[in-house]
Amino acid sequence: MNFSFNVAKTDATGARRGRLTTPHGAIETPVFMPVGTQATVKGLTQEALEELGAGIILANTYHLYLRPGHELVRKLGGLHKFMSWRGAILTDSGGYQVFSLSELRKMTDDGVRFRSHLDGSEHLLTPEKAAEIQLALGSDIAMVLDECIETPAPREKAEAALKRTTEWAKRARQYFLEQATHNGDLAQWQFGIVQGATFADLRRESGRQLLELDFPGYAIGGLAVGEAHEITCEMAGEVTALLPKDRPRYLMGVGRPEQLADYVALGIDMMDCVLPTRAARHACIYTSEGRVLIKNARYAQDQRPLDPNCSCSVCRRYTRAYLRHLFAAGELTAAILATHHNVHFYLDIMRQIREAIEFGNLANFSSEMHARYTLGPA
Ligand SMILES: [Zn+2]
Repeated sequence: MNFSFNVAKTDATGARRGRLTTPHGAIETPVFMPVGTQATVKGLTQEALEELGAGIILANTYHLYLRPGHELVRKLGGLHKFMSWRGAILTDSGGYQVFSLSELRKMTDDGVRFRSHLDGSEHLLTPEKAAEIQLALGSDIAMVLDECIETPAPREKAEAALKRTTEWAKRARQYFLEQATHNGDLAQWQFGIVQGATFADLRRESGRQLLELDFPGYAIGGLAVGEAHEITCEMAGEVTALLPKDRPRYLMGVGRPEQLADYVALGIDMMDCVLPTRAARHACIYTSEGRVLIKNARYAQDQRPLDPNCSCSVCRRYTRAYLRHLFAAGELTAAILATHHNVHFYLDIMRQIREAIEFGNLANFSSEMHARYTLGPA
């Protein structure tokens, strides 16, 4: 078997210390996955990602389908070979981007028809098509197509989206299993996505319906889209309480540095977010003492590293004054160095979280992080 997931330890909070094994390496969980939308983590080379110790990254089905096209990637040997990445890759289904980026989208029970944001060409994304694209890309973990709605959503809208998400998950699962049986050993794991907006009973219903489809892992989607952190936690907790203990749980699109441990305490094993990379490009540096807005004049003569407690190669070599200058001058290197540090910071938080689970002090770690991010230099 190419894939497995093992939980080695569960602490008093419900946090799990585990290992996710894929054909492209074993990943210690809980894990944070840097986002590589266009088959690149913006600002980082694959060499840099290796240096940072990233074992798994995210890539984006919607973008890669439109450009360069999944058939081209398949012809060139799959996404790993195309981008020269030896680690694991998770691809999303494209659903979220269709809802947030494309024009003239039209939902039907069959799928979602949309116009490309690049050239206006018309496309139909169905549950089967989303699975086909991800098989062509050859990612290690694929997501089913789900219907994403804006929150807060009226209950009727959330119910309709939940119903459609389950129907689409059935079709995606059936298509995937038919395709997978042609090739013998499974080349990919397919995860289901629990929806239900901010209604606890709908979250549980969605979870129960997806369990019947026997996915090897489950994602929780449609959260951290503007609702309060407490609501995100409450909804995620409703779902993890009923998910099987022996399968990975992935909370999509989270989160802020001080929130990561909260999600882990709810039994979440995998997370992804554009925050560390996007914030870096906007000169927002995450440090052990809180956020540093490096363009601020107060750093003009600051000889300290971005984060005095950070061991990354940027902090070992460069000063705040230099980074501030690079941002002020609009130099590409500014984004590259800031991204390197921010991704290191996130991956280091996850290392500390894994250690805290081992030693049974995750709750302490979490309250310290919250304190630093409330009191630290904003
Ligand atoms: Zn650093």
